[in-house]
Amino acid sequence: MNSLALRLARRRGPTATIAIVGGGASGALLAIQLMRRATYPLKIVLIEPRANLGGGIAYSTQFAAHLLNVPAGQMSALPDEPDHFLRWLHKNASIGYGPESFVRRSMYGDYLGDTLYEHQGQASRLLAIDHYRTRATRVEMSDGGVRVWLRNDIGIVADRVVLSLGHHSTTKLLANNDVPTFSSWSESALDDLNPAEPVLLIGTGLTAVDTALALDEMGHRGLIHAVSRHGKWPQVYPVRSKRRASKAPQLDGLISARGLLRFIRNLVRKGQDGPSIVDLLRVNSSSIWGSWSIEERSRFLRHLRTYWEVHRHRMPPEIARKIDEMRWTGRLLLHTGRIKRVSRVADGSIAVRIALRGGLDECDLRVSRIIDCSGPESDYRRWSDPLIAELLKSGLAKVDSLAVGLLTDDLGALIDTSERSSHLLFAIGPARRATLWESTAIGEIRQQAASLANHLIGDLLTSTKAREQQPVASRVDGRELTNAPV
Ligand SMILES: Cc1cc2nc3c(=O)[nH]c(=O)nc-3n(C[C@H](O)[C@H](O)[C@H](O)COP(=O)(O)OP(=O)(O)OC[C@H]3O[C@@H](n4cnc5c(N)ncnc54)[C@H](O)[C@@H]3O)c2cc1C
Repeated sequence: MNSLALRLARRRGPTATIAIVGGGASGALLAIQLMRRATYPLKIVLIEPRANLGGGIAYSTQFAAHLLNVPAGQMSALPDEPDHFLRWLHKNASIGYGPESFVRRSMYGDYLGDTLYEHQGQASRLLAIDHYRTRATRVEMSDGGVRVWLRNDIGIVADRVVLSLGHHSTTKLLANNDVPTFSSWSESALDDLNPAEPVLLIGTGLTAVDTALALDEMGHRGLIHAVSRHGKWPQVYPVRSKRRASKAPQLDGLISARGLLRFIRNLVRKGQDGPSIVDLLRVNSSSIWGSWSIEERSRFLRHLRTYWEVHRHRMPPEIARKIDEMRWTGRLLLHTGRIKRVSRVADGSIAVRIALRGGLDECDLRVSRIIDCSGPESDYRRWSDPLIAELLKSGLAKVDSLAVGLLTDDLGALIDTSERSSHLLFAIGPARRATLWESTAIGEIRQQAASLANHLIGDLLTSTKAREQQPVASRVDGRELTNAPV
């Protein structure tokens, strides 16, 4: 761009605005990719109530025992720079970390925040990024763009809006409403807890592991009970030497959930363990999921989901050791079964009756708090977020028939109730589970961020506003960046 065009562009300000609602890992990864690709004046508006961008639910925790459940070498924010996170760790934390290290999740939050600010600092001066520290409550179509309404009644006009709302704590209630449960993801879940009194965790997945570790770190001395129907703790992440080399699976037999079950049984017979089978399939999980009918997906959810989740979400070995130690020393007790009854007792405690698996035995507990660790609520119709309620009510967004996410097309555009893809509203991250099934880990989200940024930058360039300006290359890391496909 020549100096006159540059001066004009500066005077006119950004010619396109992209609003990202939700500034957790997904929102931050998308903003980074947009900055790397912006070839014309662009404004990015991040709407996120938390002060730290990139942290979200997963990486805002300050508990030292909360580690990443994926080794550092696989956690780069940038698909084209696999050792980017490791280099950050060496510079900002310790040279001792290697690709197989499991590091603190809070460090990963810092890394995403730093990477975002670093890109902002290095990006072209024609790029502006604003952080609104509040929640979005509503979107409204407006004259070729979208107006995003914030909680404080500010309305922001954007050319494109991306929802990166991530996880929503579950709103499931126990049958008895006078006994409240605390969502493990709510900030008050562990507040004002008497350290000597027993608690009950609902669920035995990674969220329950997180909660048990947090209680331990807080010095909780009371018994920690955990209940789940399957009674299984997550698998342990295999150490490198024990990981089997994965061969690309033959997908021919996987046209149905039954075919998938046969495939898994066959590998188990050959001595392959659950986690490596899931790893083998995970690379292709989106195409397998995408090729299945609703009936097959529903069969998978009914019969194979638990197997998948238990093997898919794994603990780092050091966390597994800590959980084992808590169990061996009698501080953490596992109950396999389902909660049958809860009631408030005169002394203020909660009486819980658990029907143990098999149906014959029951177990009675007294606890001071029930903490729901059963994971995110995937049915958006049950979300308490007004933004989602409005989007569903207006028909701009639609929940898939199995209620695992929002309907989106291949690019991530929201599909409305008339089955049309929006060209203005998009989603990234866990919301895309209905289309992709696996859409939660950083490995998946960073790819989505790169291809969505690519689409948005290209698409806006051809729109009227952006065409007013000549393209200008932005420079990051000393390299000229264009909107080339990833
Ligand atoms: C506890 C935990 C640990 C994990 N560990 C790993 C790991 O080790 N490795 C890995 O690869 N993956 C891991 N994951 C998975 C993955 O990294 C996360 O799912 C990812 O952080 C998702 O990020 P997100 O931004 O989509 O969601 P979130 O982290 O949930 O962030 C969403 C953000 O949106 C904001 N928001 C919501 N509604 C609104 C609104 N209406 N207006 C404005 N803002 C709003 C929220 O404040 C929140 O900050 C983990 C997930 C969890 C939950």
